Amino acid sequence: MIDSRDRRHLERCVDLAEETLSAGNEPFGSILVSQDGETLLEAVNEVGGGDPTRHPEFAIARWAAENLAPEQRAKAVVYTSGEHCPMCSAAHAWAGLGRIVYASSAAQLTAWQGELGAAPSPVAPLPIRDVAPGVPVDGPVDDLATRVRDLHRRSNERG
Ligand SMILES: [Zn+2]
Repeated sequence: MIDSRDRRHLERCVDLAEETLSAGNEPFGSILVSQDGETLLEAVNEVGGGDPTRHPEFAIARWAAENLAPEQRAKAVVYTSGEHCPMCSAAHAWAGLGRIVYASSAAQLTAWQGELGAAPSPVAPLPIRDVAPGVPVDGPVDDLATRVRDLHRRSNERG
């Protein structure tokens, strides 16, 4: 169930994805929100520098492990423009973080990559629930996913 507050956070994630695409990275943005609704951290994809593991959800999991108590992590929510990849799902679960809400799903991304003729991912596009079955998950949101699709089209055209 995605409410208006969730939606506002997801819109911010898509804005971050667009900003980091413009900075030469892949279009993914994520935020960590506390139980009280406070945004604790914003993170974006930073693979343009040459490290393909610089995903925002991975950065959030590491930041949370270093800066939040276990009970704070369990009640925090991660919002993201695109569903976590298996690496980030695992990091999220190892860090003991709570719910994930995404604007677009891994299945959608895989379909878009096929339509766009993009190179396939080197990692199997497993949904979060297959990697981290204990994590509550909500998404996608259709109109925001359409925005994310357009960002991936732009990213693919740039090559
Ligand atoms: Zn990832």
